[in-house]
Amino acid sequence: MRPLVATIDLAAIRHNYAVAKRCAPGRQAFAVVKANAYGHGVREVVSALHEEADGFAVASLEEAAEVRAMHGEARILLLEGCFAADELPMAAHLGLDLVVQGAEQIEALLAAELSRPLNVWLKLDSGMHRLGLAPVAVRELFPRLRGAAQVAELNLLSHFACADERGHSLTEVQLECFLDLLDLDFDQRSLANSAAVLMIPAAHMDWLRPGIMLYGASPFSDLSAAELGLKPAMTLSAQLIAVREVAVGESVGYGAGWVAERPSRIGTVSCGYADGYPRHAPSGTPLYVGGRRAALAGRVSMDMLSVDLTDLPEAAVGDAVELWGANLPIDEVAHAAGTIGYELLTKVTARVPRRYKA
Ligand SMILES: *Cc1c(COP(=O)(O)O)cnc(C)c1O
Repeated sequence: MRPLVATIDLAAIRHNYAVAKRCAPGRQAFAVVKANAYGHGVREVVSALHEEADGFAVASLEEAAEVRAMHGEARILLLEGCFAADELPMAAHLGLDLVVQGAEQIEALLAAELSRPLNVWLKLDSGMHRLGLAPVAVRELFPRLRGAAQVAELNLLSHFACADERGHSLTEVQLECFLDLLDLDFDQRSLANSAAVLMIPAAHMDWLRPGIMLYGASPFSDLSAAELGLKPAMTLSAQLIAVREVAVGESVGYGAGWVAERPSRIGTVSCGYADGYPRHAPSGTPLYVGGRRAALAGRVSMDMLSVDLTDLPEAAVGDAVELWGANLPIDEVAHAAGTIGYELLTKVTARVPRRYKA
């Protein structure tokens, strides 16, 4: 069998959910499990959080149905609402918490005949300008929705654009915009993603929406997951499948872009971009080999990549190589590759087997 596996530590995910809850005592939290639980496996993550999670949040009806099949009672928040009116009966059948983010979705909801009323989350565009209604539209629609047969709870939700950059002025503007609407008697309010759960108590409201923090990555560029008390959930491990000496002036890999400046030992690792390792990761990106850091050397191939073992003379074929995880924070790898942990986690491909640790 090919030596590459993503080991998922479910206890770490439970720990991280508890960290989110501890940040905001008395509040509830939707565990965000969209995109196959950020690549960790939605079935296993929902099972692991079955007892402790107050609810789950997803990006599509298909994802919601998968969570509902695992959990009969949990509140399931459909973050972008229904993409077409014909999805509404299924949303009602599944008993979802439904975001409505625009005029079309609201008219479709008010025209629908549903088997039961839904908890509706009116989405406010507080400044991100991606989804949601302007504050004046929220005010206008409030009485119509409050009296509608399709609506059980009427709730308010918004999303931050810059909560990951501490002290960003737009965050304050967005919070003010949200608070300005709270003279309307919404049943529940939700504003905080992971960054706001961790850093902005004034944004905690009634329901948190932690995503990335559950998986043990940091939403901040200047604060590590460990500093935030989070435990990494995914460890991506491969092996050294070959080791060779490379003379000064010889190159390694496609494009011959990495050239030995000293007599070098180069290891070949059983992980490549078809597994989700970023092809654009530059030479120098950290890897963890035999208890020590080593540097990526040359271009990432489809199924393999190369590592400079010159300073690890004891490293040998068969040794474990961690791409990221328990010993090498994913945020460091993401930073070196010019991306974020979110992207690395969600791009681990289907051919990488997931192993679960309870
Ligand atoms: C994905 C998502 C979240 C979770 O964000 P994190 O930064 O991963 O915590 C919260 N709210 C909405 C609307 C989202 O789409």
